[in-house]
This record gives sequence, structure tokens and C-alpha cells, in this order.
Amino acid sequence: MTRPAPNTAPNAPVLVVGAGLSGAVLARELAEAGWPCHVIDARPHVGGNCHTARDPETGVMVHTYGPHIFHTGDAATWAYVTRFARFRRYTHRVKTTSRGAVYGLPINLHTINQFYGKTLRPTEAEAFLATQADTSITAPRNFEEQALRFVGRDLYEAFFKGYTQKQWGCAPRELPAAILQRLPLRFTYDDSYFNHPYQGMPEDGYTALTQAILAHPAIRVSLNTTYTPDLADGARHIFWTGALDGYFDYALGRLGYRTLEFERFTATGDYQGCAVMNYADADIPYTRITEHKHFAPWERHAKTTCYREYSRAAAPGDIPFYPIRLVAEQALLKRYVARAKTLENVSFIGRLGTYRYLDMDVTIREARAAAAQFLAQGGTLAPFHINPLA
Ligand SMILES: Cc1cc2nc3c(=O)[nH]c(=O)nc-3n(C[C@H](O)[C@H](O)[C@H](O)COP(=O)(O)OP(=O)(O)OC[C@H]3O[C@@H](n4cnc5c(N)ncnc54)[C@H](O)[C@@H]3O)c2cc1C
Repeated sequence: MTRPAPNTAPNAPVLVVGAGLSGAVLARELAEAGWPCHVIDARPHVGGNCHTARDPETGVMVHTYGPHIFHTGDAATWAYVTRFARFRRYTHRVKTTSRGAVYGLPINLHTINQFYGKTLRPTEAEAFLATQADTSITAPRNFEEQALRFVGRDLYEAFFKGYTQKQWGCAPRELPAAILQRLPLRFTYDDSYFNHPYQGMPEDGYTALTQAILAHPAIRVSLNTTYTPDLADGARHIFWTGALDGYFDYALGRLGYRTLEFERFTATGDYQGCAVMNYADADIPYTRITEHKHFAPWERHAKTTCYREYSRAAAPGDIPFYPIRLVAEQALLKRYVARAKTLENVSFIGRLGTYRYLDMDVTIREARAAAAQFLAQGGTLAPFHINPLA
């Protein structure tokens, strides 16, 4: 994709492609430093994949592109988001249905005792699980080996095998071991999903949060606006938070993503008693059901909105959700990164721009860091502020 020569006038406007958290935070930081920003988004709303909207039938605040829980260990990022929205306390707890029974995830003392029909104390459970673990695996080469090594075959097959197969569309032994390293294993009855000290939900949703971040006189927002090179006319710099391969019109091929499909349904009262119920069995085609009203326990609604979630490979035109980043994608990513590095006055940030899974707090931190460097360098920045290949 071509772009006109950059406008080098002092404080010339900056074009920000994408009004998700990356684009909004970056624009806000630049605007506060005196740089006018034009933020565009192809969608009819701001907030990117964090978008929330009230269901017209039930009044429930729905996480349109899947459940989003804000959690961070970074006090500065927490201070940043709470500057723009009132956050309410929300502690995420996930349940999973496996072979006709309901358990708590991540695997904790209750899960272990319930699953094995035991009454073990913490040290006993740790010792017991060590007897289940496959100690013949010393250096796990893939997800399956990692699971077998940590929790043994019974827990692996009950909780991870089917779910992972559905989520990623391939056998767990084809996935890197690193995916499982993110799941904690607890020998206490603490069943909260995240360990971070700062957790919560923006009271009015993530779209209101993003709107508040963008509400600055130096920021102009154009929705329903897909990038075309003429929009960069007179711009000093482009910050691109869309897909990296999309910037190049997919000239080298498409980076692989998983996409999600949500099957909405409503019910009266409380459908499942929790926000997220995973379905671990391979013969149930969906991965989980999200009941959105549980994300706002301070609200009361007679009816309820739920999403059944299905995962599949993204085709052209689908919304890209999770970057796959297996061997083939890594090789293609390398080629796109090399091409992007030849550009001037264009920087790629955010989850799509760097083809990485990023939690919201990391997204915000990286956008602020990119803005700080752009300002420190007098209005220039390399194509990548972080290394997407790391
Ligand atoms: C299912 C799911 C659940 C998640 N849950 C959590 C969670 O619980 N907690 C958490 O911290 N994080 C969660 N995340 C991660 C979170 O969604 C991201 O951190 C966040 O959305 C990243 O923001 P972004 O601005 O980089 O990208 P996006 O939100 O994707 O925004 C990019 C924007 O760019 C626009 N765009 C793209 N191309 C163009 C173009 N050519 N022209 C104009 N506009 C364009 C898009 O329309 C989009 O609005 C989850 C992600 C997924 C997929």
C-alpha cells in the first residue's frame, strides 16, 4: 500500500488507523502533547474488539466480540484506565463442564478433590498430583506433553484435550508447550481466574471507556472509514493498529488467525449462574457459553443474554481474533516484518499490527510507550516499537 510523502511541519496531524484501545490510547497521549490526531475505524463503533453494547431485548451490557475482563499487575496502567472510567469490582471465575459434571478452573484444590473423589489437603494434593504426572517427559515438546507432565493423563483428557482441540482446530500435540504454561495450577481453594492485584469492569462498558479516552479537542474520530491512502494526505505519521498483512493488501499471503462465531440466545432469569461456562468435551461443538449479565453483578435484569462460542480458522472477510503463530505463520510474519521495516513514517502497534495476543493492559502500556518514544524523538518512530518476532 502506498502513502503520500509525510508532512514534516511541526505538529502536523497524525493518522491513527483503528479506534480500539491501541489507537485510542496512542491518540490521547499525542493529543495531550499538542499533536492533532485523526483516528479512523472501519467499524461503526470505537473500542475495537473490546466493544460493549446494551442488548436491545434484555438491556444487558454485552461484550460483542467475546468476554473481556480487565486485570493487571501494573499500578500505572490501572491508574490510567480508572482516570477515564469508573471500574467496579469484578473477580472472574470460570466453570467447566466435563463428562456431565461441573468443576472450577483453573485446576485448584476443589477441582482435584472433586475429580478424584478425595479430601486432600494442599501438600497431600501436590504429592498426589506428582504421582499422576508423567515424569518420563523431561523436556515437553508440545502442549500435550506439557499437560501430561504437569497434571497427568486423567486431568489432561478431562479438561484440556477436547477444549484445546476445539479452540485451535488441531491436535494438542501440534501446539507449542508454551500455551499451557500460562494456566496456573493451585493447591488452595482459590478459584479466581486471574492472579493480578487490579481487576475490574468499567461500569458503563469498554466502549464508554474508549470514548472517554478519545474525548480530547485535538482528536477527530471518523467511524465507518476504512483506510485509503488519501486519508494520509498531509499527515506526519501513520500509526497502524490494523492487521500487519492487511497494510500490504496480503501481498505475501495471509497470516493465520482463529475467528469466533457467537450464537446469541436469550432466556428468563439466570441461565447458567456464572459468566463463563467452558465445555471441555470434544463432542460438544462450542467451546463455552458466556452469560453477559454476570459481568455486571451490580445490575438487575429480568432477562438474560448468552453467547454460545464456536472457534474456527479465519477465512478472508472474517474478523481475526487469535493469531496462530505456529511455524508457517512465523515464517510469513518474518517476511512481512522485513517489508514493514523498509517503510518510513508508518508504525505498527497493537494486537493486529504486531500479530500477537495482547491483553488490554499490555495493549495500553505498549501504546503509551510508543507515543512516549514518538514524542521524545520529535515526531518520528521506527515501524516497530517492540519486536513482533520475539
Ligand atoms: C475473544 C477475546 C477475549 C479477550 N479477552 C480479554 C480479557 O478478558 N482481558 C484482556 O485484557 N484482554 C482480552 N482480550 C484482548 C483484547 O481484545 C485486546 O487486548 C485489545 O482488543 C487490543 O486492542 P487493539 O486496539 O490493539 O486491537 P483491536 O481491538 O482489534 O482494534 C483494532 C481496530 O482497527 C480497526 N481496523 C483494522 N483495520 C482497519 C483499516 N484498514 N481501516 C480502518 N480501521 C481498521 C478495526 O476495525 C479495530 O476496531 C481478548 C481478546 C479476544 C479475541
